[in-house]
Amino acid sequence: MPELPEVETVRRGLAPVMEGAVFARVQLRRADLRIPFPKDFIQRLEGASIVTVGRRSKYLLIQTQKDTLIWHLGMSGQVRIYAPGDTVAPVGKHDHVQFDLNTGAHIVFTDPRRFGLMDLCATDALADHRLIRSIGPEPLGNAFSGPVLAQALKGKRVAIKQAIMDARVVCGVGNIYASESLYRAGISPKRAAGTVQGGRAEKLATAIKAILNEAIQAGGSTLKDHRTTDGGLGYFQHNFAVYDRAGQACPGCDCDVSKTGGIQRLEQGGRSTYYCPRKQR
Ligand SMILES: [Zn+2]
Repeated sequence: MPELPEVETVRRGLAPVMEGAVFARVQLRRADLRIPFPKDFIQRLEGASIVTVGRRSKYLLIQTQKDTLIWHLGMSGQVRIYAPGDTVAPVGKHDHVQFDLNTGAHIVFTDPRRFGLMDLCATDALADHRLIRSIGPEPLGNAFSGPVLAQALKGKRVAIKQAIMDARVVCGVGNIYASESLYRAGISPKRAAGTVQGGRAEKLATAIKAILNEAIQAGGSTLKDHRTTDGGLGYFQHNFAVYDRAGQACPGCDCDVSKTGGIQRLEQGGRSTYYCPRKQR
């Protein structure tokens, strides 16, 4: 599933291709993905020029003069970008949407499981849209900091791992990056969220920003070598410290794994958490 860094990588691939261009032709090859396309989807987009390609949490926001296209890549959605002059591959079974731009560029959205979605919203009403309005602070924005995180966690008895995956606390921190951030901050995933205050909250907010930025950079460097933008590209996988590494030593760990068991796996809210019991308290 694409997490925030993957969506940001896709955004950075789309922005130079889309910004300033006009939707010349919009092709829908089905009536719905996770939800139906708006009835006037094609009419509202065709002829509209694209102002910015933004992002809020894991939603891409393609803003035209009047409307904003709200686009979620779902579980397995992939975006392919064709530069002007490139030949578009024959239409695949799961190529559900195609945008042809006036520049000659083409953008194809492939979504085999159809958990993705596209909706349109008048740009001046975007903040009130049902998918957008309850999203908490962007982890990479200036509005997210140690004190803001501490305030959001105050009084919460739920485990800290689950709390930071709650989009009302901070948006876009998925399962993988929650484990990695807690490891970086030295905080046990089992700790009651409300006890993460002061210096601990500061460390955790800093770790979340650093981990996400590193993942975006890894994605961005992968993207340079590919004309194709793919939700799975640039995945941070090879750099994980604890995620999916149960039983192994964590980086720089001096403990004897045969005695300690190394990195532990734990189920929290039906999701796997990975952590080092020695370094995380
Ligand atoms: Zn360790």
